[in-house]
Order: sequence, then structure tokens, then C-alpha cells
Amino acid sequence: MNLTINDFDIVVFDLDGTIYNGDTLITSADKVVDFCRQNKKKIIFGTNNSGKNRQQIADKLNKIGISCSQEEIITSAFLAGIYLKENHINDIYVFGSDNLKKEVISNGVNITDEKEAKNLLVGFKKDYDYEDLSKAFRVAKKAHHFIVCNKDRTYPSNDGTLYPALGYITSSIEWCANRQADVMIGKPDPYMLSYIAKKYHVSNDRILCVGDTYESDYLTAKAFGSKCVLISDKVYKENNLFSINKIADLLNLLK
Ligand SMILES: [Mg+2]
Repeated sequence: MNLTINDFDIVVFDLDGTIYNGDTLITSADKVVDFCRQNKKKIIFGTNNSGKNRQQIADKLNKIGISCSQEEIITSAFLAGIYLKENHINDIYVFGSDNLKKEVISNGVNITDEKEAKNLLVGFKKDYDYEDLSKAFRVAKKAHHFIVCNKDRTYPSNDGTLYPALGYITSSIEWCANRQADVMIGKPDPYMLSYIAKKYHVSNDRILCVGDTYESDYLTAKAFGSKCVLISDKVYKENNLFSINKIADLLNLLK
């Protein structure tokens, strides 16, 4: 099956490992984004990042040579605020970055302390101690809604060294509270794609996802019925999944 750029209205790019590694642009990622823009496609950069805000990510992309606006960035923190508002979930204890808390508050959702909390939202942060984690675990035990931004295993630093991602925090809270999170906001849950489809009035088959991780990027696209191009050494036989060795190959695939 052949793909062309005109099969799609929106291209959703993953960031880590797809557009950049740490602070370094991946070769030709800028050319691929330009190609999509020249063909009048809407571009979205969709990331599970729950620590940085959208403007910080837009600034980073602009700095490494991809011009974009904050409106083109979707993070799991941004979506978490929207999810809470849409589902009328209040009185929430937030374990996560100040940026995550700001997203929650800007959606009119009430953040509370451990004692008053009825619900829990977990996002990424590095600067916490045993006491902070203990509070989140105790809220998880009683929460009506236990929500996590994602369960990612790892993320790469500038030089490609892997570090534990939010999954190591969510899994320890789940284990100790002896329950699974009820909701995952980020990939591979298709919530990000359903938000995009609704906001820009496009159907699932007009969205193309481009990423580097099968269990995150492809499973998101699959769950929503969209096509996916994966940057990978492997050749896949799944429907609607196309693999390329490097992002530059997308220029040939879609022309
Ligand atoms: Mg990635």
C-alpha cells in the first residue's frame, strides 16, 4: 500500500527520538516538517512530556530550527487539565511539576492537600522525596479517580543515555496502593488523537502519526484507527503501520 501526503490533513509528530534527542535536532526532521507545511498540512507535536509547558517546548523547537507556535504543541500535562475539566473531576491531589499544577488550575480544577483529596493525578517530577511519594500513594488508596499522565519506561538525554521516565513513579504508586491507575492521559491511550480530531474536525483516517516507539506511537494510532509511520530498524506486518529507517525517509515515502 502506498502513502501520499495528500492522504492526510494532520500529521502528529512525536518529539523524543523522532524530532530531537535531548537538545539535538535529528537530521532532516526540520526538512520533513517543512515538507508537510508546504503541502498545507496541519502539524501537531504530541508528547507525553508532563514536566515542561507548551511554550517551553515550542521555544526549544524554535531554537533547534523548527519554527512552531505553542498551539501546535500537545503535552500530556495540557491534556490532563482538559480531561479533568471535561469529566468534572475536582478536589485533586497533584503529584507532579508546577507546570502540571498550572494546567490543572487553568482549567478551573481545585487542587487540594492529601487529607481533602478525592482524586489523584500523577505526572513527572525529579525533585521529590519519600514523604511526597508516600502522600501520593495514600491518596491513590482512596481516590475515586486515579489518573496518570503516562507510564513511559524511559526517555533519552542529549547523548542518548536512557533515564527512567514517569512509569517508574506510577508503577511504584500502583504497586504499593495495590490498584492500577484508572486513566492514562498520554500515549498509548488515544485521548490525544481524539482531542485533535475533535478540535480540528478531522476523521481518524486523515491523521498520520509519526514516531519511534511501537508501544507508544503505533498503539496510539492503532487504537484510534489512524495510520502510523515508525522510525525503526524492524519491518512490521501490521495494518496501517509503515516503517522507515530514519525520519528523512518520510520525504520519499509521502511524496
Ligand atoms: Mg519517542
